[in-house]
Amino acid sequence: MTAQRPQCAVCNLGGHLDDELITETDDTRAVIVVVRHVPAQVCDRCGTTTVTDEVAEELARIADAQQGNAVSGTVVVDFDQKQIAAAG
Ligand SMILES: [Zn+2]
Repeated sequence: MTAQRPQCAVCNLGGHLDDELITETDDTRAVIVVVRHVPAQVCDRCGTTTVTDEVAEELARIADAQQGNAVSGTVVVDFDQKQIAAAG
């Protein structure tokens, strides 16, 4: 019985993608937005993380929303619950 995990498209190491929860950080603007528990696929060989288009769009929405909620500093958000904890 062979597990049919998707193969990594980035490396040539024969890596496979595992579902994991990762932390994504958007530090391109005044407010640094850290989003935890983001569903992603991680290559078990090269460590490349991949998110779906839907997740990427949601991350962009979250980051955009947080830019309006604070002037500067770091905001930590949970991807699922969108609970906000200010740090720094
Ligand atoms: Zn890989």
